[in-house]
Amino acid sequence: MTGGEVGIGQDGKIGLYVCGPTVYDHIHIGNARAPLFWDVVARYLRSRGYEVTLVQNITDIDDKIINKANEEGVSWEEIVRRYTSSFHDRLKKLGIDTERFPDVEPRATEHIPEMISLIEELIEKGHAYAPGNGDVYYRVESYPPYGQLSKQRPDEMRETERGASGSKENALDFALWKASKPGEPSWESPWGSGRPGWHIECSAMVEKHLPNGADIHGGGADLRFPHHENELAQSDAAHPDRTFVRAWAHHGLINIASGKMAKSLGNILDVERAVELHGRNALRMWFLQGHYSQPIEYSEEILEEKGRAYERLRNLYTQIGDSTSSSELSHSLATELEERFDAAMRDDFDTPRALAAVFEAAGRVGQEVSARPAAAKEFLSFKDTLAELLFTLGFALPVWTEIQLPWHVDGPPPVVKVRDDLRPGEQVLEKIARREQARREKSWAVADQLRYELHAEGWSIEDTPKGPVLSHR
Ligand SMILES: [Zn+2]
Repeated sequence: MTGGEVGIGQDGKIGLYVCGPTVYDHIHIGNARAPLFWDVVARYLRSRGYEVTLVQNITDIDDKIINKANEEGVSWEEIVRRYTSSFHDRLKKLGIDTERFPDVEPRATEHIPEMISLIEELIEKGHAYAPGNGDVYYRVESYPPYGQLSKQRPDEMRETERGASGSKENALDFALWKASKPGEPSWESPWGSGRPGWHIECSAMVEKHLPNGADIHGGGADLRFPHHENELAQSDAAHPDRTFVRAWAHHGLINIASGKMAKSLGNILDVERAVELHGRNALRMWFLQGHYSQPIEYSEEILEEKGRAYERLRNLYTQIGDSTSSSELSHSLATELEERFDAAMRDDFDTPRALAAVFEAAGRVGQEVSARPAAAKEFLSFKDTLAELLFTLGFALPVWTEIQLPWHVDGPPPVVKVRDDLRPGEQVLEKIARREQARREKSWAVADQLRYELHAEGWSIEDTPKGPVLSHR
């Protein structure tokens, strides 16, 4: 993290803001790093008793969205709907609970009035100007600290966001509002109909949803300049009396073989495919065994190794799962692990070090159990600590997944909860669905018959208020 750590969380509250996706395509695994990391940060801070508000925006208006809509001959709203839903779906596949992450998901187009009033303030204070063609530009020269975040001098910087025309005072000035071209989505403004530039949306949304400023503002390393530099310039110039951001945390990008994983290079690995190939736990292990601020390398071999690492933890957890007592060793390992884990996480969310502590302690327990099998029942306190820390990192032991049931009648399809290492086939899911339908119609005899059939096939089904849970009997 960079920035003044002083003042973060002093009142027990922490506000986090993360730049979310521009919804014009399915996310690739590189885009998954931010939500996965910030989910873990929020979980950790909550486990330490902080009241966390995590805001992750959706950029739902952008050139890329308009271009995609034009290419496909559909409306831009259709593109936004499709890829927002794909984004949520992929977060779920990665094991992120979208009911809890993020706390607020503001959309750019729902904040046009806030953006317009921020731009008006910037014009009033001399930090922005409207050359009269419908565009509004930020006047970089009016804000001497410009370049502070990316540590660049003005002569090293490149032009950032353009408007519809090039009539600006200085090459570095960037568009806050862009006059719309015919046929493009547009909103009314004091400068004519147009649409906001990209950077202004995050300034407006941070200020609205985290009125005391963001304690930590996150995003990919590629956003440091120009996006975050410009956000800071906008908000700090408009409201110098307020704190905009206390600390910045930029995550490293993902390397595949020789090139950076960017769409322009054509290195796309869809999240759905990656989860299918490796499982979400292996992906999580891969992300968290690298420090967020560093780039990480992708290869099939690395992911396979991460999957095996996760298996080792799960196996140990299963081995000590029936513990009924806690030996001295169990207590001391649990206490030491908790301390080391916390120290690592406090040190700029050092998840690789936190996981190293987990593996070391787990290795120690594994040795003890293989030397004396009866000891497997004496690790109750350690097992609880292990489960809690892995839960903080977003692993759940045992891990449960929800599968949508095939549904042939009206209403939203119900889901069945299944341990993620079990693979019920389509016929099994079909039977569970029919049983759900029978239960809803109060046809108890049919429901019982289906339960009996599932039982005969080796499955056990338990009904909970949240729906059916499937396991091996
Ligand atoms: Zn942003």
